[in-house]
Amino acid sequence: MAGNLKARSPGLERPDSIIRKTIHHMGSSCEKKYYMHWVLWHWPEIVGEFVARNTSPQGIRNKTLYIYSDNSALRNELQMMMPQVVQSVNNYAGQKMIEKVAFTKRWEKSDSEGIEEIRLAPAEVEENIGRERCKMPLSPAEMQAAENLGSEAEDEEIGKAVSNLYRKHLQLQKLKISKQYQKCPQCGRLMAPEESLCDECRRIKRDKMTASVRQVLRDMPWARYPEVKQYVPECTPKIVNEQRSIMVQQLAADTDVNDKTSMKAKTLVMLYRCLPPEQLNEDNITRALYALRFDMHRPKDYKTPKRYDVIKLGRR
Ligand SMILES: [Zn+2]
Repeated sequence: MAGNLKARSPGLERPDSIIRKTIHHMGSSCEKKYYMHWVLWHWPEIVGEFVARNTSPQGIRNKTLYIYSDNSALRNELQMMMPQVVQSVNNYAGQKMIEKVAFTKRWEKSDSEGIEEIRLAPAEVEENIGRERCKMPLSPAEMQAAENLGSEAEDEEIGKAVSNLYRKHLQLQKLKISKQYQKCPQCGRLMAPEESLCDECRRIKRDKMTASVRQVLRDMPWARYPEVKQYVPECTPKIVNEQRSIMVQQLAADTDVNDKTSMKAKTLVMLYRCLPPEQLNEDNITRALYALRFDMHRPKDYKTPKRYDVIKLGRR
């Protein structure tokens, strides 16, 4: 891989390989610290802006990357996405750097014990981009910003590496502008010319849309996609179904399994079966709640009744 790169851009040593060598010569404890920083520094690129804003990686120990997040919904989501997160980190590091990700409290001090041997992957750099980037001039204010960022690091050498990476980032930004990258109309972040919104703004827009879908379903639990669409024109059948099933799960967990009469239980049935209130009857309520019995709140002494004790034979 490194050989390939060299062939593609002769005479241009990759900056990360220069940093890597430099760091290596400073001794193994420094090297460990540096790679820890490297992961922290690239965290938004590894997991995306949104996740990065709501999490902070604390350290790596015995091939486990420890992450702090006070956002419990996001923690659940990440828990399910764990294999992808591990994969992304490892792809970024260019080798199997971690085996799992765990959530933790905030660490008092960073600790990267257990990082043994890590080598950076040669990132996919298009030929010439590196050279073009190097030519992008930075203003004194930008140079100063890079210095300031570097001076926040405890370790001087790491500080230098950080400043250097930040300078490269600024240059790349300028290069993108010169290559007709446009500012996202909403937040100003740079995006490719063919996009209409940046990734982050698209995600925010989607979050707002799903919230509107849930709002419609709270007002009209029986609403199906065509009805929801009248209120939220940009929604899709898939989004309506997803939001409905999330709401069914939440409401079911909050409804007692023996409850068949409360407004909550009826709302659950309307939501789950897309039934308007005038179509609710004892039979369809019983059947729907029986189907949801494993998702509902169950008292300690509850025993699941047999199907035909609940739903009488011969009825549909
Ligand atoms: Zn944006």
